[in-house]
Amino acid sequence: MLIANDKNKSTRRILFIGTAILTICLFTCLANVAGVKTALMDKSKESFSNVIQTSERILAKNLESSRDIVLITANLLSNDELATKQTDIYSTLKEKQDSSDFDFFLFRSLTGSFYSEEGLASDIVDEYNFAWLTETEKSYWGLVNISNTEEAHYVVAFVEPVYSGNAKIGNVVAVKDFSSFLSDKSLDKIYEYGQCYITDNNGEVINASSYSKSYIDNNKNVYDGLINYAKHSSAERLSIRNFESAMANKASDEMTFMSYEGNIYRIEYSQVSNLRGLYFVCFYDESALEAEISPVVASSAFTCIITIILMIALISYVWVSSKRANDTIERIAYSDEITRGKNLNYFKNRAVSLMQSNMETPYLVQRFDIANFRYINEAYGHNRADEILKGCIELSKTHFLEKEICVRMNADQFIVFSENNEGVDRRRDSYIRALNEYARSIGVKYPIRLKFGIYQVRKHDKDIDVIIDRANVARKSLKSDDKSLMAYYSDSLVTEMRKSDKIESEMQKALDTGEFNLYFQPKWDIVANKLSGAEVLVRWIKPDGSIIYPDSFISIFEKNGFIEKLDFYMLETVCKKMKKLMDLGVEICPISINQSRILLNNPDYVNIVERILQRNSLPKEFVELELTETVFMNEQEKMKEVMNKLRKLEISLSMDDFGSGYSSLNILKDIPFNILKIDRVFFSESITSESSTWILQKIIEMAEGLGIHVVCEGVETLEQVELLRRIGCRYVQGYYYSRPIPYIEFIQKYLGATDEISETVRQYH
Ligand code: C2E
Ligand code: CA
Ligand code: CA
Repeated sequence: MLIANDKNKSTRRILFIGTAILTICLFTCLANVAGVKTALMDKSKESFSNVIQTSERILAKNLESSRDIVLITANLLSNDELATKQTDIYSTLKEKQDSSDFDFFLFRSLTGSFYSEEGLASDIVDEYNFAWLTETEKSYWGLVNISNTEEAHYVVAFVEPVYSGNAKIGNVVAVKDFSSFLSDKSLDKIYEYGQCYITDNNGEVINASSYSKSYIDNNKNVYDGLINYAKHSSAERLSIRNFESAMANKASDEMTFMSYEGNIYRIEYSQVSNLRGLYFVCFYDESALEAEISPVVASSAFTCIITIILMIALISYVWVSSKRANDTIERIAYSDEITRGKNLNYFKNRAVSLMQSNMETPYLVQRFDIANFRYINEAYGHNRADEILKGCIELSKTHFLEKEICVRMNADQFIVFSENNEGVDRRRDSYIRALNEYARSIGVKYPIRLKFGIYQVRKHDKDIDVIIDRANVARKSLKSDDKSLMAYYSDSLVTEMRKSDKIESEMQKALDTGEFNLYFQPKWDIVANKLSGAEVLVRWIKPDGSIIYPDSFISIFEKNGFIEKLDFYMLETVCKKMKKLMDLGVEICPISINQSRILLNNPDYVNIVERILQRNSLPKEFVELELTETVFMNEQEKMKEVMNKLRKLEISLSMDDFGSGYSSLNILKDIPFNILKIDRVFFSESITSESSTWILQKIIEMAEGLGIHVVCEGVETLEQVELLRRIGCRYVQGYYYSRPIPYIEFIQKYLGATDEISETVRQYH
């Protein structure tokens, strides 16, 4: 659930980031498209202005160079000699006229008469309106309207003074058709571009591109035409008028207006710099321009959208494939193959993040394994055993809280991270019950016992591995035959673990150097009142003389397998000692040797026992093997098989600690024991209650009836001896007769060994 929340969070985050990126892209794109549009519009406007400016400059330059020709001519005529010869003046003017595209060159005397080569040129004066010239004494040039019909006709007239010495004698007057200035190819551009007019400063059209005229219809005035063309609003008209009147004051200007068709038009004018009153007035349809650039804009928008779509596709692809990859990685990294639940990595991650985010919450780590799992595996097969493991995880989902994490670590080991709240024990119990029910439902009849090691997480615990280890320390503190199935971690457990580590590190050397000593505890025949045998018990005597009792190390050896070596060593040593005593003429008694059940797992066990007996050639009647009863059916089978083999070798077998576990009298008829050893627990309890004494009596009767001798262990008082005698128990073992004693002491006290013999056998401890 928490993981799902985290996933949702990260999905939301990814979606948010993705949307943000896309929004940014979209806006950038839109801004870009808008930018492209504005840039294109600006560029168009700019180049429109440029064309107008350039045209203006070309025209100004043309005018300038024409004026230069006139100026040069005037200078030429100012030559002293020429000035005196009038005919020469005229022929020079004629020559100029012929070699240029001027309409004509004239000389105007100070009296105001015009002269051509042919003399007075009064017809020209009639044709051209030179009224303005009379006031002009200096160098001058200007536009002259010589229209006399409907058609407008403009010329440019140039006037330059002619001197004789310092005295002015007249002017050169040259006239050139205005249209000839426009024939310059470089001016063609302006007519390609929008609707252009050359006007005077009132907007009267002097020249226009041929198709321009349609906009202003028959109006001779550009502005009158445009006003008709503009949107019919007084404000619109006023602004056009204002624009027109600004012409007199500014060299150039621009404005926009809306046509009655709803299109936006841009007007620009630019004054021809060296011919006052001459303007280029141009306008164009911005909407048309927009339409012209719209494919470019559309294509850039299209590219943009495609890019965004590709981006979305790419992002989605990357997202989906990374999600898939993550899922796969997560599945591999965080799942357990067998249970299909989560695994230890997942557990650690979640536990750490839970601890970090809820510092105040008390947590418990419960580590458990299935006590008899090996048995389930062997008895029911791997598949069924795996079903149980899966069941452990499945049931954890319904019996633990949602936020509690239960995973399999390895083999049959599980770990639970839970809150240490009220219901934790209840949840554990119901979980165990449910697991047992489940096991039964799949045909596993045997009770499932879970062994829990519990660690209460402390506030400052950080290292999850240490936490897991501590829960394990607690779990391991449970002995294999422990009835309790739960242990809490405590620091003293660690001390115990250390002790057991120490034992493990020293055991082999101890065996090699003979630190494992044999102590003997007599078994007494209380009917004949004599020794009937003895049990050999191990004592680990350290070089410093300290004695370690078997309870401290047998279970460790059983876990690590060293018990085999020890038990065979005990058997072998007993055989050696007894044989030696026998050879020395001592009357020996049967000795019972404890054999751990672990030994039964060794398929070669019976052979090894046989070899030990053979090589020491001790008669078999002196050897008795003690084994504890087992509650496990499959072990019973195995035990039965091994016991039968041992019985065939004529070795006596004792069933040890009867009554301490889940005893069943059935075992007596199933497994071929010769001796039944009643555990001291059973016995000490029986003395307190009439009914258990009665049961004990019946067991003894039944066993003796089957030919099995009964030995009661742990007899400490005369009272107990008497009770046992009363209920028909013949053989007893216990402190009342003797504690386990060292070998030499035993043989001297009970086998009558002399000091001499004792000295001889001392080397065999
Ligand atoms: P066990 O086989 O039941 O051995 C009897 C234990 O009871 C012995 O403890 C013995 O000292 C103790 N005992 C005997 N009489 C009395 C009595 O009157 N009162 C009380 N309170 N206790 C009495 P010990 O020697 O400490 O051994 C403990 C257990 O260790 C043995 O229990 C046996 O299971 C195991 N053990 C000892 N030696 C060996 C060995 O060589 N191999 C194996 N596999 N187990 C051994
Ligand atoms: Ca025993
Ligand atoms: Ca015993």
